[in-house]
Amino acid sequence: MTAEQPVGRSGSTGIDVSSSRWWSLGLVTVAGVYSIGLALRPGEDFSPFVDGFLALLTVWVPAAVGWLVVHRTKCRRLEMILAAGAISCTAAGDTYYVLMSAGGADVPLPSPADVGYTGFYVLMLATLAVVIRRRLPDMTWPVVLDAVVGALGASAVLAVVLDPILSAVLDGPRSLAMALGAAYPLLDLLLVAAVIGITATTGRSIGRGWALLVLGLFTFTGADIGYALLELDSLYVVGTPLDASWALGLAMIGAWVVMQGRNEPLRRETFTVPSQAVPALATVASLFVLILGTQVRVALVAVVLASLTLALAALPLVFRQRIRLADMRHQARTDELTGLPNRRALYTEVPSRLASSGRRRSAVLLLDLDKFKEINDSLGHDVGDTLLAQVAGRLSGQLRSADLLARMGGDEFVIHVDNCGVDEARAVAVKLRAALAEPYDLGGVTVHVNASIGISCHPDQGQDLTMLLRRADMAMYRAKSTHSGHFVYDGGEVTSGLKQTHPLQTLKDALSEDQLLLHFQPKIDLDTGDVRGVEALVRWQHPDLGLLEPDDFLQRFEEAGLMPGLTGVVLGKAMDQAAAWAAEGQPLTVAVNLSAPSIIDSGLPAQIDAMASAHGLSPSVLVVEITEDLLVADRDRACRVLATLRAMGVRIAVDDFGKGYSSLSYLRELPIDELKLDKSFILSMTEDSRATALVVSTIDLAHSLGLDMTAEGVENADAYRALSDYGCDVAQGFFMSKPVPATELDAWLADRRQQPRTGPFSILYPDRTAEGARRTP
Ligand code: C2E
Ligand code: CA
Ligand code: CA
Repeated sequence: MTAEQPVGRSGSTGIDVSSSRWWSLGLVTVAGVYSIGLALRPGEDFSPFVDGFLALLTVWVPAAVGWLVVHRTKCRRLEMILAAGAISCTAAGDTYYVLMSAGGADVPLPSPADVGYTGFYVLMLATLAVVIRRRLPDMTWPVVLDAVVGALGASAVLAVVLDPILSAVLDGPRSLAMALGAAYPLLDLLLVAAVIGITATTGRSIGRGWALLVLGLFTFTGADIGYALLELDSLYVVGTPLDASWALGLAMIGAWVVMQGRNEPLRRETFTVPSQAVPALATVASLFVLILGTQVRVALVAVVLASLTLALAALPLVFRQRIRLADMRHQARTDELTGLPNRRALYTEVPSRLASSGRRRSAVLLLDLDKFKEINDSLGHDVGDTLLAQVAGRLSGQLRSADLLARMGGDEFVIHVDNCGVDEARAVAVKLRAALAEPYDLGGVTVHVNASIGISCHPDQGQDLTMLLRRADMAMYRAKSTHSGHFVYDGGEVTSGLKQTHPLQTLKDALSEDQLLLHFQPKIDLDTGDVRGVEALVRWQHPDLGLLEPDDFLQRFEEAGLMPGLTGVVLGKAMDQAAAWAAEGQPLTVAVNLSAPSIIDSGLPAQIDAMASAHGLSPSVLVVEITEDLLVADRDRACRVLATLRAMGVRIAVDDFGKGYSSLSYLRELPIDELKLDKSFILSMTEDSRATALVVSTIDLAHSLGLDMTAEGVENADAYRALSDYGCDVAQGFFMSKPVPATELDAWLADRRQQPRTGPFSILYPDRTAEGARRTP
């Protein structure tokens, strides 16, 4: 598998995986350098470099990185903003503290620094609240119970640890300072309880980097408790290893923010906890606290918390059966790969949503990825799964909590948008497609994927889900075949919608019952006016629908995984025709279009070789045309297959050049002979001077790489003449001939032979010489 793919610049929001790793590493490094500084620092005096500069670096770097990530993700995630704010509060507090200490002052408790520190807890708790709220929709009762048990258990243990501090506050002189000294650990306790609670909420996944946040908060909390214990005896001094723990904790919290800023959650890397682990641990810990209470003095709060934990932990045992059932029902309705509701959930939920919608309108959007199968086939199912998980993440990110997003199966998603008319549904479709269009980082391979969306509206276009889905499906195929992105079902399009759907069986019939045929379009040498060869273009003689063009069916063959079969048929027919022309004494090369699955099929060269010799032909009668977009697939393998073909004498052409998002680097790497400039450039050449400039410079580019340049879409004499002037080698287009059946092409060729050909312009001015043509515009 290739490590790097030729794609355009990523204009995505968020940060990609590799830079997120660098950023996290940077954060930990800063904390590490500070720790080393602390270890090496001489004496007890305030060291301006270590206690001033480095210490401030360890708080401001995570803060700055946090805000940078928030900015890069366009402030889309509230929990990231809150966490960045929390880090900044600590940074502000520390700055005050450090500046005062540097001046030799003893910082009192409370001081303005405590405003910043308190801010940290408030914002961090808010961060966790947002995370919890986000998880709420898919929490079942047993899960909530587990969370509470976990949180209580953690509190019980912390209450034991914090006992000296708490009792000092309660027993000793009540001062604001002491109250604050106790408040921090108590706030820590809340944080830890919340974190443990959230960790208990699911046995599956908690989102990327959760472990970092947990570790970060634990480290931070540990430092707080250490500080509070030392302060009981006024022992805390600046510049001990304790300070390093805060720095490390902040670095990890910062790294968590960075992870959240990654383009989307990657399912396989999420942190998972066995579902019963947290409540089980909480139970053991509470038992321990209670047993400890029989041996030594333990705070009353701790005993109460531990007892509560045990009581609640026992509850699930009592209701085990009912709870298990509820949990199973939840799982049965969840798609395991993406965590979204599945088809079953869709069919139970949407009908009740429709029934309760009253007079509100709503819309069903059916979304299907374009060319997903190609990616799955060429890059493997793991990569396909990763892509689907990322797609799910992006889609949910764009929807409101009232919308229902479900995975139907494969690469099909359904969205039910309540309270939504046609225009709103269109807007949603545009938004979803835009979110999906950003490049995907699939563990080193970057791919671009588009989606087509069909829309049907309730109640106008269907009263029930089945009807709505059927019509959204028709609209979706319409969107695919017209490349329009999205399409709203409209009654009038039923037939053409149906026409596009082509059930799988009819596709198989097309192959087995010989319904495919080829049309041929000549390629003209602009230097001599000779016919260089022809391009074979497939057509489908459909039993009901008549002659269909590739745009009407190729995509369906591709999705059905039948492309290799189609390519085989086309190759066979192309060879038949080439052999016929050779036998008639007018040998012509035939260009065949290959799709991605064919080009990475290492059996292809042998297949072509066998076909050619069976026809008594040299493989050099064949030109294969490949498109740039197939290079998202396995480029190394494609390169090997192409090199073998070329060694056999097959010419390789890059089709639709300039249409995709390719980088030029593959021109250097791929073994190719010919560039076919996409017809959009030629078609707009006459009115668009930029298109002309591109045409001219692409011709230069091709020639300087030793490649032949072919122009497609030559529709008129002006284009033909201009291309000839620019030095283009070959022209193809309606001006010379449309793609036609072989018999018609034969007639066209015969007709041409009748006319005196005296140069490149004979096709324009059959009765003049080339010189004459040049002189007479
Ligand atoms: P393509 O390879 O770029 O083929 C050229 C397309 O441009 C053909 O459309 C042709 O009819 C059209 N064309 C030719 N001259 C002109 C012109 O002067 N003006 C305009 N506007 N169009 C012109 P067609 O036959 O509909 O094929 C569409 C696409 O379907 C092809 O684009 C190719 O990508 C694909 N295709 C066709 N046959 C096969 C096949 O056997 N296998 C595979 N994998 N793909 C095929
Ligand atoms: Ca082509
Ligand atoms: Ca083309």
